[in-house]
Amino acid sequence: MSEGLGRHRLGSRGPQEPPVPRRVPGPVPPGPDGPSAIRLVWVYPDLLSTYGDRGNLLTLARRARLRGIGVEIAEVNSDQQVPVDGDIYLLGGGEDLPQVLAARRLRADGGLTAAADRGAVIFAVCAGYQIIGTEFGGPEGEPVPGLGLLDIRSGRGERRGVGEVTADVDPALGVERLTGFENHQGVTRRGPEVKPLATVLTGVGNGDGTEGAYYGRVVGTYLHGPALVRNPSLADLLLSWAAGPLPAIDSRQEDLVLKLRGERLASQSSPA
Ligand code: GLN
Repeated sequence: MSEGLGRHRLGSRGPQEPPVPRRVPGPVPPGPDGPSAIRLVWVYPDLLSTYGDRGNLLTLARRARLRGIGVEIAEVNSDQQVPVDGDIYLLGGGEDLPQVLAARRLRADGGLTAAADRGAVIFAVCAGYQIIGTEFGGPEGEPVPGLGLLDIRSGRGERRGVGEVTADVDPALGVERLTGFENHQGVTRRGPEVKPLATVLTGVGNGDGTEGAYYGRVVGTYLHGPALVRNPSLADLLLSWAAGPLPAIDSRQEDLVLKLRGERLASQSSPA
């Protein structure tokens, strides 16, 4: 099996190649009783699911259902095919060896790449973030090919980034300040077309003062916590990309998450 870099779609692209996904579908079309079900795909929970990252799936499902949007969930282990017809794909963090295995199987499977080609939303955390990039550092620092869905390259830094992170999101995305937890050795560089998701206030993130990255509907971050539990406006951004404009959620349904978020942000005493 070839592990070369030739298949990467966004990395090292020549000037003739368009920098945008080939087809970006619209939101989930409404059925007779409102939007039809949104399809959430949790990719490789057997290999990629550290620090409660499954909470990202639960948060998206809950916030969709609270708005009357039906939800279908596919949890796809690494010995199963990744379906290509999902609306939002989630990848979590992982330890070094499972991360290499996950990258190899995802490359061989091709389903996630095909879904990205259709314009599906992809939200990837830590090891998952590195895997969707062009390459990442393996257990001994050796370059391992990723999926090339995002033009980023990750290597291994001098020290692990461990602890709480706060970061201000690119204003173009309209998402509130991020709070999360990081534990990674990787440092990540972006290609010219890829924007940082956020600017770090406290913590390490990509290692250059930025945190995460996005391009089109593909988003990666180093944040656990889980990220979408702590950052509901980021969850809603992903949902809106898949389902269109979202009504507000009854504030009584938000009490606990706002309390958690307030506590975590206050613990970092970052500048306002
Ligand atoms: N193995 C990767 C790193 O250390 C990702 C770790 C993680 O997903 N928490 O950079």
